[in-house]
Amino acid sequence: SGTLFVVATPIGNLQDISARAVEVLRSVALIAAEDTRHSARLLREYGIATPLTACHDHNERERSHSLVQRLLAGDDLALISDAGTPLVSDPGFQLVRQAREAGVRVSPVPGPCALIAALSAAGLPSDRFAFEGFLPARSSGRRQRIEALAAEPRTWIIYEAPHRLLECLADLRDLLGGERQVVLAREISKTFETIRGLPLAELHDWVRDDPDQQRGECVLLVEGAPVVSDDSELDSQTLRVLTVLLEELP
Ligand code: SAM
Repeated sequence: SGTLFVVATPIGNLQDISARAVEVLRSVALIAAEDTRHSARLLREYGIATPLTACHDHNERERSHSLVQRLLAGDDLALISDAGTPLVSDPGFQLVRQAREAGVRVSPVPGPCALIAALSAAGLPSDRFAFEGFLPARSSGRRQRIEALAAEPRTWIIYEAPHRLLECLADLRDLLGGERQVVLAREISKTFETIRGLPLAELHDWVRDDPDQQRGECVLLVEGAPVVSDDSELDSQTLRVLTVLLEELP
């Protein structure tokens, strides 16, 4: 059978596509795209003439079935979304799942991803982190989720729509306290790219007072809660013992 290539595309700057991604998009029989009109622009930019077919949240289940049949018949296909890596807060899960269940080879062509790009420049601990995707759009649901995350020790990352950014920051501030450090990464790789980290209360007021900050696409990265456990007590005790021992050393 053919291979399903899961291809990452730019999240802003059209140059951010890998040479291999272009080659794969050129060579496959068909490209399944979230929005064919949107993706046509990218394909035009790179002179890629491969036909496009729509595969989005509303038709993914049925569409996947016929795409898997084509893969089984031997065609190579590519899956792309509007921006970044498919399946990351984007369609594609059904297709990848069904292809793998059918024994089709699924191969990623890695590239841009807003959360990873944001994390790489935020300056928050990145050895472990949690991706929460979009929080619920309604405030009650959003606040519930934030409460559930309040004690999370890892850096956590959310995607937010620009028109909800300010409300979301207000909820975060109310539930996590104004001191928690949060980084706003906006318009990554685009003209008005802004990456700013501040305590929540200050970040909220800065965004409120500058409507430009409420435009475009954004990622929020929340510093994890401080770990308060017996471990830290043990650590300071260990440190005291070591200090004493060090003094005894010749
Ligand atoms: N699949 C994409 C990825 O790999 O990041 C994410 C798709 S999701 C529908 C769109 C969200 O990603 C936006 O609402 C925003 O939170 C984030 N995003 C996408 N492009 C961005 C950019 N250039 N700068 C900041 N955030 C971006």
